[in-house]
Amino acid sequence: MLPRFADIIIDISHEAIDRTFQYKIPEELQRRIRIGMQVSIPFGRGNSIRTGYVVAFSDTPEFDEDKIKEILEIRNSAVEIEGSLMELAAFIKERYGSTTIQALKTVMPIKEKVKGLVYKEVRLLVTRQEALQYIELYQRKNAKAKVRLLKELIDDKVIPYSLVTGKLNISNSTLHALQHDMVISVDEEGYYRDVISKDMVEDNGLQTEQTQKEIPNEEQQAVIDTVLTDYEAGNRDTYLLKGVTGSGKTLVYIEIIERIVAERKQAIVLIPEIALTYQTVKRFRKRFGDKVTIMNSKLSKGERYDQFEKAKNGEVSVMIGPRSALFTPFRNLGIIIIDEEHETTYKSETPPKYHAREVAIERARMSGAFVLLGSATPSVESYYQAQEGKYKLLTLKNRAIADACLADVTVVDMREELKLGNRTIFSARLKELIQDRLEKKQQVMLFLNRRGFAGFVSCRSCGHVFKCPHCDVSLTEHFAGKPNAKLSCHYCGYEIKRPMECPECHSKMIAGFGLGTQKVEEYVKSVFPQARVLRMDADTTKNKDAHEKLLGQFANGEADILVGTQMIVKGHDFTNVTLVGVIAADLTMFENDFKSSEKTFDLLTQAAGRAGRGNLRGEVVIQTYAPDHYCIETAAAQDYDAFYAEEKAYRKMLSYPPFTNVMVVYMEDDDYNELVRLSENLKVIIGAWGVSDEVDIIGPCDATIVKISDRYRRVIYLKNKDYDVLVRMKNLTEAFLKTREEFKKCYIAFDFNPTHSY
Ligand code: ADP
Ligand code: ZN
Ligand code: ZN
Repeated sequence: MLPRFADIIIDISHEAIDRTFQYKIPEELQRRIRIGMQVSIPFGRGNSIRTGYVVAFSDTPEFDEDKIKEILEIRNSAVEIEGSLMELAAFIKERYGSTTIQALKTVMPIKEKVKGLVYKEVRLLVTRQEALQYIELYQRKNAKAKVRLLKELIDDKVIPYSLVTGKLNISNSTLHALQHDMVISVDEEGYYRDVISKDMVEDNGLQTEQTQKEIPNEEQQAVIDTVLTDYEAGNRDTYLLKGVTGSGKTLVYIEIIERIVAERKQAIVLIPEIALTYQTVKRFRKRFGDKVTIMNSKLSKGERYDQFEKAKNGEVSVMIGPRSALFTPFRNLGIIIIDEEHETTYKSETPPKYHAREVAIERARMSGAFVLLGSATPSVESYYQAQEGKYKLLTLKNRAIADACLADVTVVDMREELKLGNRTIFSARLKELIQDRLEKKQQVMLFLNRRGFAGFVSCRSCGHVFKCPHCDVSLTEHFAGKPNAKLSCHYCGYEIKRPMECPECHSKMIAGFGLGTQKVEEYVKSVFPQARVLRMDADTTKNKDAHEKLLGQFANGEADILVGTQMIVKGHDFTNVTLVGVIAADLTMFENDFKSSEKTFDLLTQAAGRAGRGNLRGEVVIQTYAPDHYCIETAAAQDYDAFYAEEKAYRKMLSYPPFTNVMVVYMEDDDYNELVRLSENLKVIIGAWGVSDEVDIIGPCDATIVKISDRYRRVIYLKNKDYDVLVRMKNLTEAFLKTREEFKKCYIAFDFNPTHSY
């Protein structure tokens, strides 16, 4: 029977109308309409035309049938949501909290169709013999343009339209005349936008010895066999591959995917950031050719649309990309791989604040696929799941390349350096080693976990700190010492020219504190004027291909030293790098965040993993003011298990994930006193619901940064062992808020097991 009514979600992100509305389906649409389609409908009293998504069908009217409005049309220009992705959206909304439309939009990174590219060409329709006769004929008539075109076509038969109208300068009327005489045709063909640039796939000279197919070593083969044997037996487990840096996890991924793709199934490979695309795609292309494509926010809308179309039509089998690639509309998904699974970029920062790992496991479950997580430093949460037997643990203990072993790590206590009178950013040891590598023509990476030139700027006479007038943060200096020096706010974008004197005491003694990549770069250049230095950070990688360019240059040996933020330490594989310097290891350590030790440990281990990946022995220097902290000590020893033991005890003692679940109720308002009042009220109400399940409530309190863009921020924390209890608290809160006028202007969002501090 054909559906008569449709339940429709209106495309407005507003909590108050976060429900479905029933519409009548006109007869002429009944055969065509499907769940997940976008439609136009009249909405509200004024019947203004809105778009909405069909989420369900029904046969009986909810109320008086004559009063139910009709769907106007199916929007053909919109992308349809696949059924399984609709289900995934429901899971996301329930588990993380958001409006339905936000959840639908999450699983649908591409919303509108984008017209395909067309390639036009001109084709000769007659034989060579006939063409020669035509040329003779046209020459007699003095039709020079026709002669010119036919002479070009006589050998090639087909030439690009652009050549015809461009270089050959043939007018439209000439083309029409020839088409009319059936001598030529002008053909159009659609094609996909190509998103993988040439230098991404071409080998740079340094790595020629690696062009033959890599054969897995014994350790790698054992891992591959375990997974595939399970797979063939019909098991669909979640695996955690813990492999030291350089152990060759990528080859394991490739081998497993190859088997799965051979069964006409598809694979999604998530990488934590765009900067890693270059390296990964290159290696996947070697094995899978143009069956691999990529997806990320730097691609144009049209490019993204085309990649999803290719995926849907089965023209590609492997999709590589960050978090959102998880929603690639593959019809026969076999495996989802999450590389560097511990990275916090896998958690969405806007509602729904979903974690790609959990959603991947759900999507895999729904489609009969499985998930493989990989990391040298698994997240404490995942490792705990493995210890508990929920994930299957696989390990790679050795580096893949014969002779390549883990680098030697030295920890330098910067307090001691200071005592010895060294006030520069380099310890004596690091400076000496850089000099040594420059002489040996080996490469160096210097890592700093901060962007920009300096930290805050203050007056040395009175202590005044330049702050953002809209946010509760200090301004950051850019282009210090240059005529275009400015102070800017990293939160709201507020910017001023760098003042020359203090607005409080009019002193001219204003200086920047802290350290940024730009400063390190300048310092390196002044100490080692002969060195060629590249810098890679958010400022130098704004353009589309900037990452590939910089990494390509460094891989090609066009620079001796690469200075950068964390984007240089993750996953890259440069065989000539034999020294990694961590300029200030502590910068992330004392953040007000239960994951800060873990983040520091990860970064240091990854940084250490960059050195000595070829046949040359690597060295790492970690500069720190807290050499005795367990995350520095265990990172220096590259001992994950020692770190995990310490961290686990700490989390357990303070009752943090994975030992409990946390739900943050985040509240924002432009009136601080009102916000305090509302947050106190909400706490009392939630507290009453939580009593029977012994939900712990902490707060409400101000967020660490209490004001951003003139909006005040407060938080309430809820803790419970049972995630579902917290989901229930969220659902009760959502339902309650819908009924209360006074909360309507206050912005409220949920965050489960946050990966950053509030
Ligand atoms: P990981 O991701 O585990 O840090 P990679 O996958 O980047 O490590 O591999 C490190 C290096 O070892 C790469 O240069 C890779 O080409 C090489 N490699 C990996 N497996 C093998 C193998 N079986 N034989 C030869 N080289 C290998
Ligand atoms: Zn002052
Ligand atoms: Zn600001």
